[in-house]
Amino acid sequence: MNTLMWFRSDLRLSDNPALYHGLKACEGDMLGCYILCQQFIDEHPINPRQLWFIYEHLKLLQQAFARAGRAFKVLTVKNASDVPAAIHELCAEQGVGKLVFNAEYPLNELRRDKAVVATLEAENINCKRYHDRALVPPGMLTTQQDTPYKVYTPFSRAWRSQVKGVTFKIYQSDMNAIAAASDSPLAKGSDRALLDDAFAPYLKQSVTAPMQALWSVGERAAKAALTDFCRDRVAGYQHDRDYPATEGTSRLSPYLAIGVLSPKQCFVAARDTVGGFWGDDEDVACWVGELIWRDFYMHIIAAFPALSRHRPMQVYTEGFAWSYNKDDFQRWCQGQTGIPIVDAAMRQLNQTGWMHNRLRMVSAMFLTKNLRIDWRMGERYFMEQLIDADFCANNGGWQWSASTGTDAAPYFRIMNPQSQSERFDADGAFIRRFVPELKNVTGKKIHNPDGCVDNYPAPMVDLKESRATTIAMFKDLKGTA
Ligand SMILES: Cc1cc2nc3c(=O)[nH]c(=O)nc-3n(C[C@H](O)[C@H](O)[C@H](O)COP(=O)(O)OP(=O)(O)OC[C@H]3O[C@@H](n4cnc5c(N)ncnc54)[C@H](O)[C@@H]3O)c2cc1C
Repeated sequence: MNTLMWFRSDLRLSDNPALYHGLKACEGDMLGCYILCQQFIDEHPINPRQLWFIYEHLKLLQQAFARAGRAFKVLTVKNASDVPAAIHELCAEQGVGKLVFNAEYPLNELRRDKAVVATLEAENINCKRYHDRALVPPGMLTTQQDTPYKVYTPFSRAWRSQVKGVTFKIYQSDMNAIAAASDSPLAKGSDRALLDDAFAPYLKQSVTAPMQALWSVGERAAKAALTDFCRDRVAGYQHDRDYPATEGTSRLSPYLAIGVLSPKQCFVAARDTVGGFWGDDEDVACWVGELIWRDFYMHIIAAFPALSRHRPMQVYTEGFAWSYNKDDFQRWCQGQTGIPIVDAAMRQLNQTGWMHNRLRMVSAMFLTKNLRIDWRMGERYFMEQLIDADFCANNGGWQWSASTGTDAAPYFRIMNPQSQSERFDADGAFIRRFVPELKNVTGKKIHNPDGCVDNYPAPMVDLKESRATTIAMFKDLKGTA
């Protein structure tokens, strides 16, 4: 009986538990598949930059399978409800008796997987689910009352004690050994054509060319970036991570988002840079703290399905009178707000598909607290632009910034973009990189040019006034809730 490995957001060969265990227990051939679902692309949404990154990594996986004499099929379906039948058909065609995959936790993905498992099990095809997206799988950490954690600090305490003393095995999947043992290589000639045809509508040269120049493709490149970060930059991370003009963070998020790297590989690499206990090294502990935030938001999404239906975690904020002003929103999207740090951040996003973490907070707060635009519009725009788009982290970040989330920024603590700019981009190097209209502005004026440059807009909103109004509106709402 053959085994089918269904790849989703785990596009790697190493440290892939479903692939590793699937291969180990495989009595026949192992083949791979990926399903491109039109509905997921439109609704989630999966953006063209990330689709390019997925495509490039599928190409590599397909080559690895082909070298081992294995087939790797890319199926295209219109709706999520078509997935079970598509997989079942592939299983029937290829003599598959077992399906293996790694879990995904947002609601639609859980529903889709449940339907697939029900369909296949009804046909006596065994299904096995593994966990790789979070270092500590969702559901594993609960409070003393057996409820999900809603606050980061106690969650991170429980997380640290869960991983303490665990050695963590990095799985290596030996595709070639399985190939040698097999005497019935599966058809693979047309596999590449299936992949190319499926992705062709999304791969526009204008999108892919800039991405190719910015992001290296492949597990080897991702591991090299992790090694470089741990060797050269993790020391100093706690300080450097806040300054967008310097390369103070790992920039591994695009790889983590589609699973070219596992969080376990990241944790182990960082942990092993420390002679003693990793938690005693401030820089490493701080970086691991970010991996814990990543796990935290995944646990939250898994525990509270309403979040996958675009609902806020703090129910009282449902009543907030958000703005839906299209012109204001467009100015924010295009980096034309007249607030230099926000504009530089949005242009970094639009040009590179990535934005520095501090600026994600600053630009999200500006949209939700100064323009009072519904956080879900910003959330969607980020999903449409980010090469590292990740529903859990993005939803968590937006709900944190909008004060609608669990353990979010309190509504009265609103970041002032100008002070953030003065503090974290003091000499304006980052602003000048992305807002060339301001390159000749000198001194502190760079943070608030306010009409001194002809081709740069005046601030679209008064920061103090809009802040005060927002706080008053939240206060009223909370009072009546
Ligand atoms: C409004 C908003 C939206 C966001 N949207 C996304 C998103 O779509 N995808 C995404 O991966 N991250 C998102 N983040 C979190 C964070 O900004 C990015 O993960 C980080 O900037 C990626 O850069 P890095 O790889 O250099 O991070 P590093 O600082 O090197 O951190 C290492 C890894 O930890 C994880 N991480 C870091 N910070 C966070 C965080 N606050 N929450 C969850 N995980 C984190 C990422 O996987 C990151 O690659 C968002 C944050 C905010 C405030």
